[in-house]
Amino acid sequence: SYLDRLNEVEDKVKSYVTVCEEDAINTAKNIDERRAKGEKLGPLAGIPIGVKDNICTKNLKTTCSSKMLYNFEPPYDATVVSKIKENDLVILGKLNMDEFAMGSSTENSYFQKTKNPWDLDRVPGGSSGGSAAAVAARQAVFTLGSDTGGSIRQPASYCGVVGMKPTYGAVSRYGLVAFASSLDQIGPITKDVKDMALALNSIVGYDKMDSSSAKIEYPDYTTALGQDVKGMRIALPKEYFSDGIQSEIKEQVLNVAKEYEKLGAIVEEVELKTTEYALPAYYLISSAEASSNLARFDGVKYGYRAEKYDNLLELYKQTRDEAFGTEVKRRIMLGTYALSSGYYDAYYKKAQRVRTLIKNEFDAVFNNFDIILTPTVPATSFKFGAKTDNPIEMYMNDVCTVPINIAGLPALSMNCGFDKDGLPIGVQLIGKAFDESTILKVAYAYE
Ligand code: GLN
Repeated sequence: SYLDRLNEVEDKVKSYVTVCEEDAINTAKNIDERRAKGEKLGPLAGIPIGVKDNICTKNLKTTCSSKMLYNFEPPYDATVVSKIKENDLVILGKLNMDEFAMGSSTENSYFQKTKNPWDLDRVPGGSSGGSAAAVAARQAVFTLGSDTGGSIRQPASYCGVVGMKPTYGAVSRYGLVAFASSLDQIGPITKDVKDMALALNSIVGYDKMDSSSAKIEYPDYTTALGQDVKGMRIALPKEYFSDGIQSEIKEQVLNVAKEYEKLGAIVEEVELKTTEYALPAYYLISSAEASSNLARFDGVKYGYRAEKYDNLLELYKQTRDEAFGTEVKRRIMLGTYALSSGYYDAYYKKAQRVRTLIKNEFDAVFNNFDIILTPTVPATSFKFGAKTDNPIEMYMNDVCTVPINIAGLPALSMNCGFDKDGLPIGVQLIGKAFDESTILKVAYAYE
């Protein structure tokens, strides 16, 4: 029935780059047979899901929505995909995204424009736009996305669904095509908070294949649901409620805070003075890391190769010129510049220092609070083309989400209302490192 639904609305929404209908049906049949035999199956056996197209799936195209990888079939599964398969979930296909996860609207996909199911003239957000739209349009029970600076939470907010970026280190990135390795995290997008707890259970855990993976005990996240939030301390950082934030968003998020007060939580205003430096630091660090990570795409090892070239250097140059889109080239140039000798100290090193200040400030707030509550985005979804000519305006979408990646913290976005045009508004709950349970508990109490 999910495949029927997927096909019924896909012409309008365009969230999938690849649908693997036959494989999905075969997997589902196999699960049914094993169930009939009384075999023990995973707790989410048979649940149909979608996977962002930068997460490697064995023998199933993984394009990163780029011409560079238009035909790339990985010879292995990402760890999250292995876990999904071991748990007997069913993968329906691969989801559209901004090329190499760079963008905030999914307009940077080489293949197609994914539409926001709430208003087909508007963007679903990005870069995991396909992952968010597919859940909103019920084309999968849940999906996996990746979040380097907001790419799960921002599209979740635009599409009125729940999205979570887990703590850096909680979910293995082995098999995630790297964008900015010190910031990238895989996480789920779901229709509600309960599904989020279940989805998270199925992907977290230590993995020796990812050197940044944390070797700790991971709880069963469903046990957090339904617990009392009385006496919990919730911080509202005033920098996230500035003039740049759409008034309806501020209003709705403050309403959420009031709801928590009614439930017995203690809500207080705090300061996070380094907030304004997070966006420039993010775009420096992420572009620097991207320029290094994307050096591997040279026409030799994977995907696209230019047809005409006279020598090896020409092969590299032609391939990269023809197969990378404008935004990817912009990031590579920015990053290469920031890392070049003579500029490294002025830009990259300085951004890393700013990063430490931002992290310390979050830590200080978390000495006194359990949760930080903010808007997820400064404004609701925009029309196609509205920001494509102005990269800085596009980058401004990420002001509320990038500080969390900079600090490596977990954060969830969930719907908390609609603006006057009927577009979803998201609220962001930020937690302490590896304290996803508290976020889920607090989110569930509101929902
Ligand atoms: N919009 C941000 C960027 O373009 C975040 C992307 C992401 O989280 N992958 O870099």
